[in-house]
Amino acid sequence: RLAVVWSTTRLNMAIGADLAADAYERTLYQPYSVHVRRNTSVVTSGVVQKVEAIVEGFIAPVQIAVGSLITIVSVTVALLLIDPLIAMIAVSGFGGGYAVITRAFRGRLKRNSQQIAQEQTRVLKAIQEGIGGIRDVLIDGTQTLFLDQFRSSDRPIRRAFGSNHVIALAPRIVMEGVAMLLISSLAIVIHNRGNGIAGELPTLGALALGGQRLLPLYQQCYNAATAALGRRASLVNAMEILSQPLPPSYGLPIPRPLELETGVECKNIRFRYTEHGPWVIDGLNLTIAKGARVGLVGTTGSGKSTVLDLLMGLLEPNSGEILIDSNRLEANSLRAWQRSIAHVPQHVFLADASVTENIAFGTPAEDIRMDNVREAAHRAKIAEFIEGKPAGYATLVGERGVQLSGGQRQRIGIARALYKQASVLILDEATNALDSQTEQSVIRSLMPPSRETTVVIVAHRLTTLKDCDIIIEIADGRIIHQGTVDSLMSTSASFRKLARAAEQPA
Ligand code: ATP
Ligand code: MG
Repeated sequence: RLAVVWSTTRLNMAIGADLAADAYERTLYQPYSVHVRRNTSVVTSGVVQKVEAIVEGFIAPVQIAVGSLITIVSVTVALLLIDPLIAMIAVSGFGGGYAVITRAFRGRLKRNSQQIAQEQTRVLKAIQEGIGGIRDVLIDGTQTLFLDQFRSSDRPIRRAFGSNHVIALAPRIVMEGVAMLLISSLAIVIHNRGNGIAGELPTLGALALGGQRLLPLYQQCYNAATAALGRRASLVNAMEILSQPLPPSYGLPIPRPLELETGVECKNIRFRYTEHGPWVIDGLNLTIAKGARVGLVGTTGSGKSTVLDLLMGLLEPNSGEILIDSNRLEANSLRAWQRSIAHVPQHVFLADASVTENIAFGTPAEDIRMDNVREAAHRAKIAEFIEGKPAGYATLVGERGVQLSGGQRQRIGIARALYKQASVLILDEATNALDSQTEQSVIRSLMPPSRETTVVIVAHRLTTLKDCDIIIEIADGRIIHQGTVDSLMSTSASFRKLARAAEQPA
């Protein structure tokens, strides 16, 4: 028996580990459009907590139920052989009792399961948002607000689990009483058959013994049923996570970065984030030649970052197409194209690790090439700062880079992009936290005269864009003007306005 318990526990552990990893894997492989639409708490809760419900609320109960049923059947058969009528009464009495109890509590278990599933996500959200916004929380003194959110979700979870627990165990006490009653009434029935109590003693003994065996087995089956019903909603959530499709490129060898030959072209692209939302990009036509330096400008919210995400294949246009060297960007060319891109986002994400690991982000420690890390840091104008630290490149940056200044974080982001030595460089306001002088020298080193890399850069300050070949002005997801800085200054009133506003001394 011990061996059985040991091996099923091991088995369930292995199944749980596989399922959890599968859930995380499928989540990681979802397209960006899926990620921007859902809250991270839903994902975290799904991978960490809901998957647990598959083992606790499905696999383990099934194992227990199957094990108990086998014994129930054999005991029942034995009883049937001894005395069919009495056996029928005993089996249906116990079984019927538990069936009635299960029915009675089904609604409650379902509600508990929904509450557990929903509030587990909310608890995570309360913690993530309270800690994530800790600066505001401390300044505004809104601790109680987040604590209340936490309490109002954590308590119901515990109550629901407690309620499940009681529902699972309480009937046992009732059923033991019922069993006593059943056996004594059967004794009377037997007595009345008139064979004399002595003649019926073996039957009665068998019945009492069988009943004693049966009852705990029924209880186990019932426990399994409550466990399944009490975690049902989490189970459904977990199944949703596990049924997320994997992309066509899954499992294929990593393609070589694509070598851009002529350039990239956007043809009549339309895009919106949600099905009925506004068109964020509305009929965009854009050509970027190989080696070009393209600047994107526009008021805030005009769609610049979205254009970049479309170019990088993070988002897929609803209509129109993106051509890479005249080939349509599709599922099978996407990975190769993305591999040729290095990108610095508007908000750089730094891992709680060393400067080296952040610059060579995603590279296994043994494959990191220190020479390249140093060179990238030099070009991003952050080397001096790093090398001046006692720990040098091993300096830890803190969670999300809190131990660095905003501009230092940005330059590490730039160094990360340069480390990849990609042929296409995409920068989304990647230098806006730097002072003009530092920015100038970073930009200059990002755009070497060799023209090997194609650069697309979003910026507000004109000085950032003065080395660009062409400036594209976007408004409401459409290109309204394009040309050099000088030509736009004379043709576009809105560009002049943007330029003036950006050059205002702060
Ligand atoms: P900024 O200069 O402020 O960075 P932007 O030009 O980069 O602005 P985008 O980030 O591309 O602007 O956003 C364009 C529009 O799309 C905005 O109106 C924004 O509200 C909307 N938008 C952005 N992300 C989403 C999203 N995930 N879901 C729905 N709408 C979004
Ligand atoms: Mg933006």
